[in-house]
Amino acid sequence: MGPRKWLESWPVYRQLTGTDPLGRGKAAESPHSEALAPRTASADRVAKSICPYCAVGCGQQVFVKDEKVVQIEGDPHSPISRGRLCPKGSASKQLVTGPQREQKVRYRAPYATEWTELDLGTAMDMVADRVLDARRKGWQDTDERGKPLRRTMGLASLGGATLDNEENYLIKKLFTALGAIQIENQARI
Ligand code: SF4
Repeated sequence: MGPRKWLESWPVYRQLTGTDPLGRGKAAESPHSEALAPRTASADRVAKSICPYCAVGCGQQVFVKDEKVVQIEGDPHSPISRGRLCPKGSASKQLVTGPQREQKVRYRAPYATEWTELDLGTAMDMVADRVLDARRKGWQDTDERGKPLRRTMGLASLGGATLDNEENYLIKKLFTALGAIQIENQARI
């Protein structure tokens, strides 16, 4: 490396002689950092999503490459968050790609000591059977004076703060239609 090249490799020299007097851009860039590119630059496509962690519902952009999520960032077009995510939302890629994430339905039968795998269809049928059974067993058609009640005391719903408006709306509709009267959300307790 000649003396001129050596001088130019020195950030302070570039800062004093170049077009970046504050040393916040080109002057401070090393060949290594100049060669770096963000994961978002090589993504095949970007899907819009909503952060799943809390009811603020910040907008997210999900960057996908080879059908795998490679990065999740704030969506600048979201009127709620305008590109921002809190530390939890910024880490939501781990929720999707983390090795400890369960990908299959796991079931531990009453008195069993081991978990077994179930296919989703079977698990959904089992949930539906239990809901119908609890509804029937707790059904109250009339009160002691014969006045109509048409409700069940066998079911209750307690929602979490990750549920958004639309999910809460649908849950309330479903449980009310089933005859449940105890319908609550963690955010209200
Ligand atoms: S980014 Fe943070 S504040 Fe926004 S929805 Fe996710 S958890 Fe809530």
